[in-house]
Amino acid sequence: MGSQPVSLAQLRQLTLSKLSPQYGQEEAEALFRRLLMHFLPEWQLLWLQSRGEALCPPDLLSKWEGALHRLSHYEPIAYIIGKTHFVDIELLILPGVFIPRPETESWAYALYAQLAVSPRTILDIGTGSGALAIFFAQRFPHAQVYAVDKNPLAILLAERNAVRNGVSIHTAILTFGQEPLPEYFPRKWDLIVSNPPYVPWEAYSETGENVRLFEPPEAIFCTGFELYERIAIYAYESLSTGGRIAVEVFPPHAESIAALWKDYGLAPTLHKDERGLWRWIVAVREGEE
Ligand code: GLN
Repeated sequence: MGSQPVSLAQLRQLTLSKLSPQYGQEEAEALFRRLLMHFLPEWQLLWLQSRGEALCPPDLLSKWEGALHRLSHYEPIAYIIGKTHFVDIELLILPGVFIPRPETESWAYALYAQLAVSPRTILDIGTGSGALAIFFAQRFPHAQVYAVDKNPLAILLAERNAVRNGVSIHTAILTFGQEPLPEYFPRKWDLIVSNPPYVPWEAYSETGENVRLFEPPEAIFCTGFELYERIAIYAYESLSTGGRIAVEVFPPHAESIAALWKDYGLAPTLHKDERGLWRWIVAVREGEE
């Protein structure tokens, strides 16, 4: 189309014809809306929408076609527009950092609804862009929230995202289970959360191109249950009385991980996601105060 001006209706048509065969109609519509909100300020979008055939700004089309090109090569929209949403939080996202998923949003919310007492200390293991840490920091403003990740870029982003969302979190770059937590971290936690890399490498070839070609594999794929074992050992010794740990799991592995946790003295309960798959496990540390 080159650089001639187009109307919103033409832009939508262009987007749907390019993306629907690959993404389906509904997803293509959603991508269209996300690109609109990214490329146009709200006032301009409202103005264009109220004026039927009015033409979009002249420089829009080439940027738009660039984005469509990237989407047609399976690049995730979050990397193209540099942000995503996690529940009601806007997070900046950079290539090289895991993009938070809807299944994590649902359990984070369900877990929050389960908590009768506000946690005072919260640890997020493998925080990525900071999604879980920031979510809980916003909901429990009096809690001290800590987040670790082995990826320095993720920690940089998590810190920026915390500031942008008006909360403060303490961070450290480290490989959990291999390196100790810093001395200044609390010894006892009221809440530990984690969405660790859990997709088995054997499932790599069945994973979508958007993930395989663009996301950092070390944030997604793993071998065995070693990390869950390390998390269980740590949780057993560091959860405060009444404290709880919640982790996301690969659904086919949920029951094995729960059994493993029992061996480490935890009492796990399994929870399903919206598709009816076992997706997260919670264990509460019982005992006398
Ligand atoms: N749920 C993600 C996916 O299926 C994986 C997340 C993870 O490994 N923690 O792509």
